[in-house]
Amino acid sequence: MPLENPIPSISQRVTELNNRHRDSDASVVLRDVLGDALFGPIALVSSFGAEAVVLLHMVSEIDKATPIIFIDTEMLFPQTLAYQRKLAEDFGLSDVRRITPSREAVFLRDPDNLMHLADKNSCCALRKTEPLEDALAGFDVWISGRKRFQGGVRAEMALFESEDDKRIKVNPLAHWTREDVADYIAANNLPRHPLVAKGYPSIGCEPCTTPVSSGEDERAGRWRDEEKTECGIHFMNDDKQTPDANVIVNDNGFASDDWNRGYSSFEDIEAAPESQSAALAIDLPNDFDAVKLLPWIDQIDLVRIEFPVFSDGRGFSLAQRLRLLGYHGRLRAKGHLLADQYAMARRSGFDEVEIDQALAARQPEPQWLARADWQARNYQHRFQQSA
Ligand code: SF4
Repeated sequence: MPLENPIPSISQRVTELNNRHRDSDASVVLRDVLGDALFGPIALVSSFGAEAVVLLHMVSEIDKATPIIFIDTEMLFPQTLAYQRKLAEDFGLSDVRRITPSREAVFLRDPDNLMHLADKNSCCALRKTEPLEDALAGFDVWISGRKRFQGGVRAEMALFESEDDKRIKVNPLAHWTREDVADYIAANNLPRHPLVAKGYPSIGCEPCTTPVSSGEDERAGRWRDEEKTECGIHFMNDDKQTPDANVIVNDNGFASDDWNRGYSSFEDIEAAPESQSAALAIDLPNDFDAVKLLPWIDQIDLVRIEFPVFSDGRGFSLAQRLRLLGYHGRLRAKGHLLADQYAMARRSGFDEVEIDQALAARQPEPQWLARADWQARNYQHRFQQSA
């Protein structure tokens, strides 16, 4: 006989927590997490960097004995080490755990401490990701200080995230703005990392951190002039979380792709015979000239428009143009879209969005379903009304 109240999976709990705390203040989230024994062992992971003081202060106000994991890569600025000791003392944090890379692994893989010059990803794995994985082994939940305004992959992160359905990651400051951080620090008269005043708004290892000029992104000084933007500790287990199939998002939530007849390019269609009888789907780049599709506009069943980056809105314009030119088939936005952009996508004429599994894990179904106010300016709705 099935259990009447089966224990929810981590993913189910994460979905429920994101719903419950949709509008919660960071301190409410922290009190809920730190005060509920059902969460199991919890640690705060802190770099003791430029903005770390906010979460450390909040946690110290709730429970000074909370385990604080501090990854000392042995490449940090001496000011960071001094700041770590000062904050632990000022806030009365009684369980700061300084974690260093494995002596044996460093001896074998980076005996001259020069790996960061040749292979930064491997260096971060050796000095950050692997030690953190070991340190988190006994914890069910960990707390991170990332914020969406920091951009990159952080721009779309949820308040609660599932790590491989084994551990929960909490980002209580996910929705905070730069001003929120500054206000909290000022209101509580908190000590800043000494390098902030010297032009370092984001602080990591000494060889990989430079000051930032006025007008630059605040993380521009991290791995400057490299494609790398994250050390990797926030991608732990991502390889296990990312199966091949993409997720289709529509007004009913998540679904799998029901189109199994392949996608053509515009060049394929141009080269094809004039009368197309088979069902047809086409992939378009977001800078495509919609007018070129006019000869085939009634023959195409599905148009899929690429969104290469979150900030590039040309796909919305192309969708609107296709609808205005009379395209009535399915229209899908594929790639880098946020749940926050779903209403915009629907208003632009898209029927659905296609995202990869990693994004679906970070932005679960309820976040997309919450954006249901698109109908007021829905192009198809207006077409239906005027038909
Ligand atoms: Fe190595 Fe630089 Fe990564 Fe630090 S930030 S672990 S020095 S590559």
